[in-house]
Amino acid sequence: MKKAVILGGGESGVGAAVLAKVQHFDTFLSDSGTLKDHFRSQLQQWDIPFEEGGHTQEKILDADVVIKSPGIPETAPLVVRLKEQGTPVISEIEFAGYYDTAKKICITGSNGKTTTTSLIYYLLQNAGLNVGLGGNIGRSYAMQVATEKHDIYVLEISSFQLDGMYDFRADIAVLMNITPDHLDRYDHCFQNYINAKFRITRNLRPEDCFIFCSDDEVTIGELNKIVIQAKKLPFTQEGTVEQGAWLDKDTMRVKVDDSEFDILVDDLALEGRHNVYNSMAAAITGKIMHITNDTIRRSLTTFEGVEHRMEKVMTVGGVLYVNDSKATNVNSTWYALESMTTPVVLILGGTDKGNDYTPIAGLVREKVKAIVCMGVDNKKIIDFFTGMVPVICETDSAEACVAQCAALAEPGDTVLLSPCCASFDLFKNYEDRGRQFKEAVRKL
Ligand code: ADP
Repeated sequence: MKKAVILGGGESGVGAAVLAKVQHFDTFLSDSGTLKDHFRSQLQQWDIPFEEGGHTQEKILDADVVIKSPGIPETAPLVVRLKEQGTPVISEIEFAGYYDTAKKICITGSNGKTTTTSLIYYLLQNAGLNVGLGGNIGRSYAMQVATEKHDIYVLEISSFQLDGMYDFRADIAVLMNITPDHLDRYDHCFQNYINAKFRITRNLRPEDCFIFCSDDEVTIGELNKIVIQAKKLPFTQEGTVEQGAWLDKDTMRVKVDDSEFDILVDDLALEGRHNVYNSMAAAITGKIMHITNDTIRRSLTTFEGVEHRMEKVMTVGGVLYVNDSKATNVNSTWYALESMTTPVVLILGGTDKGNDYTPIAGLVREKVKAIVCMGVDNKKIIDFFTGMVPVICETDSAEACVAQCAALAEPGDTVLLSPCCASFDLFKNYEDRGRQFKEAVRKL
């Protein structure tokens, strides 16, 4: 019996453990921290041995294959040792791919992954297809491969997951964009991060498709250096393309082979320039999958969006409150500001991942009347934006922050939580930050 060791007992690790068990591996899961109760009981239910609070080296080094949680860096001493002795260390997605014959639509990029993945999933569901949703979103892909049967999977894939992928092949690979992020995990080398993202194109065959943003200079620069066998379908808001998606004044046009689709940008349910890209990627996917234009149109006009992504919370006293808590880097805040058509009271701050705020300076000058910081250390933001906006103030809780915003905003303004930063200084995670923000707004 082959031995599989799973490192990390979160959503993906427990899914991988169940799949390994179902595939008759001698399975063992090891987590250096504490397991959440429901994961522990799942492992017990499946009769899978595990340990928590530390790793038993001998047991792990004895594995035939190690499935590593994307949260554990490649440089962790145990991972380095495993690699040195030649043990394959792979991601949950790679492992599940070995046992899955379904068609796989895989979405990666620095921003827009969750939105585009959810939109494509919604589109395929509306078309009546038997489709599963997984990867970096929702339930583990491996768990679904172990316990369910789908014809198609739509998978959101992060760069950390891509790092552990070798033989996996997407049928449709979607790369939204590449902007610097997570560089702390890539030796502060942007090219390493680019290479990780481009692993989405590994193993693509001529009959597969590669959907990408041709307005993204980094993507185009990389495409000039490598050969991709798959059919290339770009999307752009700056030019036209023969195959793919582009803008023709107010209309988004899509063409795949001889089949065409068009829709007025104003009719798209998701607002903002970034969401035009996301809708384009989804529409191209729909065309490749031979979904009818009616279904594509209905899906793009009725999709309700994903929580914490430009989510309209409510209007209070003529002021609209928008929760974009997921904007944890400067680029996503750029798109949020770009889509604003009213004066903005902007909430910034949190854990800075080495931000350079220069890209948003122009939009801040043009649209932002006040910045309300919500973080423990706001010095960098205050230093950068002083003189650019009339008012900058500091708060250290969601409630205080929302009260301050309400005092500063006038009817017709938008209060936008799009903080450019991670949330770990004051909140558990970005979801917690978004929820506390919404609660505070509802209490106004
Ligand atoms: P991801 O899953 O890649 O983090 P999300 O879909 O969760 O992306 O969106 C995160 C934030 O990024 C959103 O709140 C929005 O401000 C911004 N965003 C969404 N789509 C795009 C895009 N295509 N390009 C740039 N920014 C985007």
